[in-house]
Amino acid sequence: MTQLRTRFAPSPTGYLHIGGLRSALYSYLYAKKNNGKFILRIEDTDQGRYVEGAVEIIYKTLHDTGIHYDEGPDVGGDYGPYIQSQRKNEYMHYAKQLVESGHAYYCFCTEERLQSLPDVNGARRYDKHCLHLSKEEVERRLNAGEKFVIRQNMPTTGNTTYHDAVYGDITIENSELEDQILIKSDGMPTYNFANVIDDHLMGINCVMRGIEYLSSTPKYNLLYDAFGWERPMYIHMPPIMKDAQHKLSKRNGDASYEDLIKKGFLKDAIINYIALLGWSPKDDSEKMSFDELKAKFDIAGINKSPSIFDPVKLAWLNSLYIKEMTPEEFANYATPWIDNCYLKDFDKALVCKLIQSRIETFEEIEDKLRFLVEFPPFENSLYDNQKQKTNADTAREVLPLVKEKFSKVRKWDNEHLYQALVKLAEELGVKNGKVLWPARIALTGLAATPGGASEVAELLGKKETLHRLDVAIAQLQ
Ligand code: GLU
Repeated sequence: MTQLRTRFAPSPTGYLHIGGLRSALYSYLYAKKNNGKFILRIEDTDQGRYVEGAVEIIYKTLHDTGIHYDEGPDVGGDYGPYIQSQRKNEYMHYAKQLVESGHAYYCFCTEERLQSLPDVNGARRYDKHCLHLSKEEVERRLNAGEKFVIRQNMPTTGNTTYHDAVYGDITIENSELEDQILIKSDGMPTYNFANVIDDHLMGINCVMRGIEYLSSTPKYNLLYDAFGWERPMYIHMPPIMKDAQHKLSKRNGDASYEDLIKKGFLKDAIINYIALLGWSPKDDSEKMSFDELKAKFDIAGINKSPSIFDPVKLAWLNSLYIKEMTPEEFANYATPWIDNCYLKDFDKALVCKLIQSRIETFEEIEDKLRFLVEFPPFENSLYDNQKQKTNADTAREVLPLVKEKFSKVRKWDNEHLYQALVKLAEELGVKNGKVLWPARIALTGLAATPGGASEVAELLGKKETLHRLDVAIAQLQ
């Protein structure tokens, strides 16, 4: 049996957006599931859209996420070069072959003539004008150095059908197909031509890409047929939407992989979430490691319907991955977020211990603990808590005693501080909450904070803790 060969063929136009990363991931997973090869090809023939540094971002993102390609520009392989602009000469040769066989033709039409063609719903359809030029005239004009493009000669009758593994049989009337440009006037191939030539020459037998290519694929199939080449298997993926109406798109500035990393999402969570954007495993599991994805991925699980990029769900998944980190892993990863804000002055291990199970993204760290450095006056109604049966009166009674206990604590750590508070509750003959709640409010001035009174006190240190208790007590007078 021939080995399965899939590919990811991004255009280097900026950061790798979510849709692109999903194409890479699915193509990789499908290849690996079938002991096949996954190839990276850079499609840089549209020089106008080229962005400096974008190729390196593609390499780095795939490398970081573990989507390893077996062949590609920076890793080599038997089917190179893997960068389209370096394959320029190949395309002309194949385009000429199509001209010979009547499947393509030279077109010398000026921009002016093209603009004079009738506008049908915003598009001007080429009218095959140059198809009828004699061979001699074409020769003469080429020799005279006239500017030209090469167009595909589409059949005008009949229809073209192909099978897509997700969307089923797709049929298009040939009369709907325009004589698209294969070679541009700068000698470069269009994407529409290059993708077919490259996929064939690179032995790609399975093409996985976004649904936006579903309707152009009949044109590509006509090219495969014209050359007498075997068509690949097609797997088109559903669109990724921002909401019910709008597609997620990097042109609209929607999130790229890089943006998500900067916001404090973990790569494993991002990959896990992206895998679920248009695919679900038979067992409906949601949290899946990369190895589990490799084992579970199948074409049957790809949905036809659009999927909505849900930042809330991504954050939830991210929190699960964060909770799973060892304290060392968490501390390492959290370091830049801690070191770049006021938290650098606190005990990092304590900060990490307090925050690890309480954030969904690393970006939240900075805001979640701001009360450590900001302590503005607050409403005494914060002491009201029906469940703990506390209010300002309870606080007035309990806080001086908390201060006394804390002043005498043997060791300033969570354990001892907690024991001191529990002991106080015991002595007063009240439930722990009656002491813990007012103490935490007094130390933070906030209804909700990560960590309880003793954890907060440990981080604040003795001096600041006693000072805050004094302030809170004075505020109750
Ligand atoms: N260069 C195309 C893109 O970035 C690739 C489409 C394909 O996979 O054929 O959208």
